[in-house]
Amino acid sequence: MQVMEKIIRHLRNSEHVLIASHVNPDGDAIGSLIAMGLSLEALNKKVTFYNESKIPTVYRFLPSVERIVQHTGETDTYDTAVVLDCGDVKRIGNLETETLNASPGYPTVINIDHHTTNTGFGNLQLIDTSACATTEIIYRLIGKMGVPMTSDIATSIYTGILTDTGSFRFSNTNKAAFEICNEMLARGVDPYNVAKHVYGRYSMGRLKLLNMALDSLEISYNGKLSMMTVTWDMLEETGTQNEDVDGFINYARRIEDVKIAVLIQECRNGNKSCPPFRAKEIADVPGKFHVSLRSDGAVDVAEIAADFGGGGHRTAAGFNIESTISELKSGIFTLADSIA
Ligand code: AMP
Ligand code: MN
Ligand code: MN
Repeated sequence: MQVMEKIIRHLRNSEHVLIASHVNPDGDAIGSLIAMGLSLEALNKKVTFYNESKIPTVYRFLPSVERIVQHTGETDTYDTAVVLDCGDVKRIGNLETETLNASPGYPTVINIDHHTTNTGFGNLQLIDTSACATTEIIYRLIGKMGVPMTSDIATSIYTGILTDTGSFRFSNTNKAAFEICNEMLARGVDPYNVAKHVYGRYSMGRLKLLNMALDSLEISYNGKLSMMTVTWDMLEETGTQNEDVDGFINYARRIEDVKIAVLIQECRNGNKSCPPFRAKEIADVPGKFHVSLRSDGAVDVAEIAADFGGGGHRTAAGFNIESTISELKSGIFTLADSIA
């Protein structure tokens, strides 16, 4: 039996399904979570929509987004957990140890994803690295389940594909992206409304933060690696949050001759005892950082991220690290030497 049929059969036999996606969610993580959850509800399943992080403001227009909880209740009530858009089960955050590893009541874990670095975790895996987004896979699954495509589900799928393909500009943009989005429009999606929420407005603080981020740009001696740094201090000064940094790395990626773009972002919820600092002034204070990597396709940044314990796709990947900023930067700049 094909894995998709096995998954559908298992879901049909489930009573209470927990749906989870990765921390600091993007449009694909939230879109696939909502689309999958609403589809299972259409099959009369009890569903818990879960994400550990606060949902970024730009995605709060999505239908049923208010259903997503940051904490789960009883640990032993789910018979199935569907983990979406996560290359590694640890990407769902604390839930992994609190609920999925809890005994008794260990749920069957279904892993649905499109990352090349997927570890193959869980009991059933539906991994398609050629899919432009996890929402592309969810679209196919929903079709096979025979669930009617409502405008709410369509809006979630459309938003996942739109954002993961960078509005049909990134290298993962495929024929399916256009075909599915075209169909989603026929199912009632309002593309202008989605674009307005996702890309349409910048707070003044976010623009100031962009200004600082652009000012932080550094280029390797050979011009092939660009690096942007956003510190906790910059967020405090502009009254912004980590979610406001979303998309900034694309400026670093677009620089002529650059093959790898890097964005180092200090984690606001990291080491609370760590005082705020300016990257250029106090470079040797230890902190927690999220590092985003983008490539023009020549270099596989998922491999680099995996070396640091992270993962992702060939052209977009990331990892988390505890380090001083100077050590982190010099370690990353040495990567430039090996770029052809
Ligand atoms: P980001 O750096 O957050 O823009 O993410 C780029 C891509 O890498 C996304 O597909 C993420 O899912 C993936 N990614 C980011 N951070 C990690 C991590 N710590 N572990 C595994 N994958 C990651
Ligand atoms: Mn994602
Ligand atoms: Mn994705």
